[in-house]
Amino acid sequence: MSAFQQMKIGVLAETQPEERRVALVPDVAVKLVKLGFQVVVEAGAGVRAEFTDDAYRVVGVAVEDDRRVVLGTADVVLSVQPPRLEDVAQLRAGVLTISFLQPATQAAVIEALAAHGVTSFSLDLLPRTSRAQSMDALSSQSSLAGYKAVLMAANRLGKFFPMLMTAAGTIPPARVLVLGAGVAGLQAIATARRLGAVVEAYDVRPTVQEEVKSLGARFLELTLETQEGEGGYAREQSEEFLNRQRERLSEHVAANDVVITTASIPGRKAPLLITAFMLKGMRRGSVIVDLAAESGGNCAATLPGRVVEVDGVWVDGTTNIPSTMALHASQLYARNATNLLQLLFSNGELKLDFADEIIRDCCVTHAGQITSERARQVMGVTAANAAIRSEAR
Ligand code: NAD
Repeated sequence: MSAFQQMKIGVLAETQPEERRVALVPDVAVKLVKLGFQVVVEAGAGVRAEFTDDAYRVVGVAVEDDRRVVLGTADVVLSVQPPRLEDVAQLRAGVLTISFLQPATQAAVIEALAAHGVTSFSLDLLPRTSRAQSMDALSSQSSLAGYKAVLMAANRLGKFFPMLMTAAGTIPPARVLVLGAGVAGLQAIATARRLGAVVEAYDVRPTVQEEVKSLGARFLELTLETQEGEGGYAREQSEEFLNRQRERLSEHVAANDVVITTASIPGRKAPLLITAFMLKGMRRGSVIVDLAAESGGNCAATLPGRVVEVDGVWVDGTTNIPSTMALHASQLYARNATNLLQLLFSNGELKLDFADEIIRDCCVTHAGQITSERARQVMGVTAANAAIRSEAR
């Protein structure tokens, strides 16, 4: 008998109106069933990502109508968005949860998880190391967002992306500027190139130059000092740096048909890269898709969750773009979450080794405490409240 036989994994239906993803898809669930886990999904959980209840049943997953039964009987609860406060109240002490907990906006939920003795993991706190790559849901979802952002821009732009030679004359290719060449930006560059656009890109981290060029785009040299920070991320820039950056970007923003902005600094408000004045320099019909809309926006006119038109220029601040590609977004998220689960349950037993960077960084609550320093920082909880790490060793 498998050591996992005692363990029940519960999968919640997402409750946010815009959320179409599901945390576990049948293809991935079958692997957990084969390992010996019992798996139960809340009825209808996968429907908005095109996975029917029957698709789960045929791979040996139980389907449960009552959410409270899933919450009250599972040993591990998987979801994409954080569990709601009323969900946390149904969880038993010692239960483990995996989701994007988003500590910056979910302080009340995190405090409730700690108070209920729940061990919670947040995929948005995972270290960006090569060992963690297979669990990196931020990357998998950013990649989807970068791809879809280009399609959204192409859909709105009244122009072809590729160069076309027609009997009626030659159509020049569309010009696309990508600001921020992290995971989403690189995927946006690749997608715009595949559609035939001429692409240029800029990032404050000069190390991405080669990757940008290898995708067939031009890297903009703005002759600003380098801004590489810790762990491969950008540092927060001074207002003076950003002013010079905006000045030098102005003519490029004006010359392009589409600008995809993806610039962000972990845990900080997104830098403002396109001012209202720069927007006025753009041609009518141009399109900006601002992937930083949720964290403050890279464009002054961005409204999160809305598409606005300013003097003929479209500014698209659509949020949760991965959810618009729910099937693949769910498939990738499910693989990421399951890979983390397998790390936590080595040899059939839950082992929380806080000396392991992955476990330490993305565990948010355990044994009644908020264990994550980063979560505490953004939630404003004092370090004195959490002595768990030393105790757990
Ligand atoms: P992110 O979403 O935090 O930021 C997106 C990009 O915006 C970054 O490339 C950043 O340099 C850029 N940026 C910030 N301020 C800017 C400004 N003022 N102007 C222009 N660009 C600006 O980053 P991300 O995509 O999540 O990842 C960033 C990097 O982390 C990756 O490129 C990579 O080096 C590293 N990473 C490593 C792994 C891994 O090894 N497992 C996985 C994912 C990411």
